[in-house]
Amino acid sequence: MALKGISINVLFAFFDWLLSVRKDRLGAASTLQTYQNVFCLVRKKETGCLEIDPLIKSQMNGHGLRMEKKKKPIMRAEDEFELLKTLILSVEIAFDHERHRIQLGLIMQLAGITGNRPALLGVCYKDIKITLLPDPKGGELPRRLVQEYQGLTRRERDAFAAPELTSPKQLFRFRIPSGQKQLPVPLKEAIQHVPLFRRSKPTVNGVRTSDDEALSDSTLRSRMVTLGSVTGMELPTGPYTFRRGSGEALDNSSFISESQRNLILQHHNSTVFLKSNLSRYITGDTGAAYRGLEPQTALMRLASGMSRTIDRRRPRKLDAAQRAEVDRHPEVRLLRRRQKTLCKLIREKHGSIASMKGTPVYDQYQKAYHAHRNMKRRQEEALLQEVKARYKREQLVIDIQRQLKGLPSTELEMAKAEDYVFVERVRVIDALFTFATPSPEEECRRRVEAINALTALCRLQEGKRPRCLKPSALDSKLERDLTRPSVLHLPSLSDSIPIKCEATQCIFRLGCEALPTETRLKSFHSRGDLKKHLHRKHLHHHPDGQPIACPHPRCHVDLGSTMHLQNHVELVHKTPT
Ligand SMILES: [Zn+2]
Ligand SMILES: [Zn+2]
Repeated sequence: MALKGISINVLFAFFDWLLSVRKDRLGAASTLQTYQNVFCLVRKKETGCLEIDPLIKSQMNGHGLRMEKKKKPIMRAEDEFELLKTLILSVEIAFDHERHRIQLGLIMQLAGITGNRPALLGVCYKDIKITLLPDPKGGELPRRLVQEYQGLTRRERDAFAAPELTSPKQLFRFRIPSGQKQLPVPLKEAIQHVPLFRRSKPTVNGVRTSDDEALSDSTLRSRMVTLGSVTGMELPTGPYTFRRGSGEALDNSSFISESQRNLILQHHNSTVFLKSNLSRYITGDTGAAYRGLEPQTALMRLASGMSRTIDRRRPRKLDAAQRAEVDRHPEVRLLRRRQKTLCKLIREKHGSIASMKGTPVYDQYQKAYHAHRNMKRRQEEALLQEVKARYKREQLVIDIQRQLKGLPSTELEMAKAEDYVFVERVRVIDALFTFATPSPEEECRRRVEAINALTALCRLQEGKRPRCLKPSALDSKLERDLTRPSVLHLPSLSDSIPIKCEATQCIFRLGCEALPTETRLKSFHSRGDLKKHLHRKHLHHHPDGQPIACPHPRCHVDLGSTMHLQNHVELVHKTPT
């Protein structure tokens, strides 16, 4: 009943309250419109009333919300290439495990090709079909279908149902049996329901890829945003930018019908595409169309793509001085003081904050802690937006002024000495950034090397490795097509590690081939430090009472539990646990 005869006062009070509560997160008028629509739907269902009086609706506007439509950037193949380049080359893009680098690259490629929503993260091995088909042009070598999946499937050494199929080289040697028109290459039954894109997981032996947990949507989104911003694009990159890019390509293609496009994008009619996917920016050459001229397609594509906005100088984070400015903000200071006072009080009275878990005092402290942190984040975000806006206003003028004065443009600082990428990444760069060759044999070799390079990279955990190439070397490489001798192979470290370790070395690291040499051999400051590290980073992640193998690379004794392992390690390898 209350919903039926709702008055402007009540409604106004409600939305006014909503606006004040959600002030920091509600930016666009369209978001408020969504709230209104939901409200109207509920009201209609409950009371049968159709619409809210339009007068009431119009009075609800004007709250200082953003009225213009959100920009809808489109990620085209050439923009995606820029992202992939950054992903492979940039030292700023770091992961706890290198598999994530390759995984992200593959996700982006699939997102572009299939136009799929983030549902891509639900893809399992059962969704992948690898089939060799005869070359329609009559060539001797079979063509592979679903090639885009190759990088990952072959990485998993034992992914194939045929037990002796273990290397990419073999796959490229297959021929279609005579009398047949195809050769499907099935994957193992056991991995059918394993998600293709998985998250990483801390284990007793270091960071591993989880066996069954898919990568989360939020992780994917934040990685894409970071990648886009490091690449220097102005608008944020996300799964939907790819979907729009794919949608546009399908829409413009004369080989794909409208109904096929809707089917691929899972739209039940074309209105959905028009409303949600089509970029607001008109990408066709309207001028040429009006004058009856040939469209300047390449120029229009350049003008409307995301790559156009690339500027690596654009500020991405606050510098030390700007962060200090946030710290001096009155509201941040007030909340910090409140948190600190509470912290001191609890420590004096009860010893430590952690010991008060479950009591009202603890909850009170948590509240104060979060209030400070959230306020700080909000202020940081606001300042960053301001810094970016200032950059946009001022840098263009600076650039033009410099040109007028005949000065060179301000370039990004050259990469520092430590900004070099390591051997395994150089190998990937060398393998991926090459041109396709007309010779089928050469092409097979090129692909096999690319897969092997990716496989080698995928085994590595994060860590400091000796660097050997400036990331900027790519551009010159593409120009000159270096045929640099392949990466040097070092003798295995594992074979040379003595049975008796140093008393401050972590035995798990010593045994972990995915880590760089420097990290493996690293010594801790004291035995106490090492013990803390062992418990927190390793033993803590192993289930109680479960058998465990000694991680020493030349030992491999199976032990009953972590307790047995601790005794063994102390006795045989002379490191404390
Ligand atoms: Zn360790
Ligand atoms: Zn051992």
